[in-house]
Amino acid sequence: MPRPLCATIHLDSMQHNLNRARSCAPLAKLWAVVKANAYGHGLERGMRGFAQADGLALVETESAVRLRESGWIKPILLLEGIFDASDVPLLAEHNINSAVHCIEQIKMLEYTQLYRPIDVHLKMNTGMNRLGFRPEDYAAAYKRLRAIPGIRNITHMTHFANADELEHPLLAIGEQVRRFRAGADGLPGERSLSNSGGVLHQPQLADELSSDWVRPGIMLYGGTPGGRSAQDYGLRPTMTLRSEIIGIQQLQPGDTVGYGSRFVAEKAMTIGVVACGYADGYPRHAPHGTPVVVDGVRTTLVGRVSMDMMTVDLTPIANARVGSKVTLWGDGLPIDEVAQAAGTIGYELMCALAQRVRVTEGRMGTDG
Ligand SMILES: *Cc1c(COP(=O)(O)O)cnc(C)c1O
Repeated sequence: MPRPLCATIHLDSMQHNLNRARSCAPLAKLWAVVKANAYGHGLERGMRGFAQADGLALVETESAVRLRESGWIKPILLLEGIFDASDVPLLAEHNINSAVHCIEQIKMLEYTQLYRPIDVHLKMNTGMNRLGFRPEDYAAAYKRLRAIPGIRNITHMTHFANADELEHPLLAIGEQVRRFRAGADGLPGERSLSNSGGVLHQPQLADELSSDWVRPGIMLYGGTPGGRSAQDYGLRPTMTLRSEIIGIQQLQPGDTVGYGSRFVAEKAMTIGVVACGYADGYPRHAPHGTPVVVDGVRTTLVGRVSMDMMTVDLTPIANARVGSKVTLWGDGLPIDEVAQAAGTIGYELMCALAQRVRVTEGRMGTDG
């Protein structure tokens, strides 16, 4: 028997969440973001789960090529663009749309002859201060890019710093949109603005946020960038991480649990050992109290997460035994709740799912 730890990917939930994103931004074309191995779900599963998307966006050049080799024929976008002039022929060969965010990338495109025309997304830095041309330099960058033979469509793109919060005191979405409009004023081309946070705010901010393309990631995987819960937004979990109890210990008052003896039993209690640890991607810094579901009942983590195991309080679970089913996150336990308890975000938990974890596909509400 393999180790009982297993991640089940719900392709039907991925489709459902894609439809939710569409209904938030019904007029926009949609890039489904599949970077980081489709947020830990597997690139090919991303391709199948988001088959109805208008395009797939990611940052890894080799994964972009893999999508083409796996038969994806719709658009592909490299969100960080290319990393070296030697990547330019790859864009033409595989018909890959590239972000252009700095003068070095423009030079790469100028120096390397394109034997087939390509489309690009020109990126504006509207306050995130990560990638992109400042609004005052944007039109000049556009002009220089436009002059390169072989560059076909140029889409205007920016990225929000605080899309999970409508009125951020330091940098509101509205302010970024104003800078974007000013910087791209009068330039022809489609526009691409919103990540998941922007898409989820689209119903309230339709006029402000309206654009030709949206780029949701986390919401397609049943997580939220912050704010309300995924369930409130009608999103469904796409990854359920399950394992089993593989050992049980009866504690007396004063007994301690695990490395560092971080947990001390105040009363007699039963704890269960779960086959899942930080080498599987479960966060080591998850504290006592992080939620876990055993045999359908919510309980909590106790003690320190170790490499292959973690310990949970079985006191509330009547008939817990070796072999009891444990849900670490997903169907029945929102990943955002686990992430919040562990001081991180759902994105990080999904992306950190380790190579050694078995992955299957199945619908929600089943055991996978
Ligand atoms: C990752 C990424 C997205 C998706 O962000 P989510 O918060 O997961 O929706 C969108 N656009 C760019 C440029 C990205 O890098």
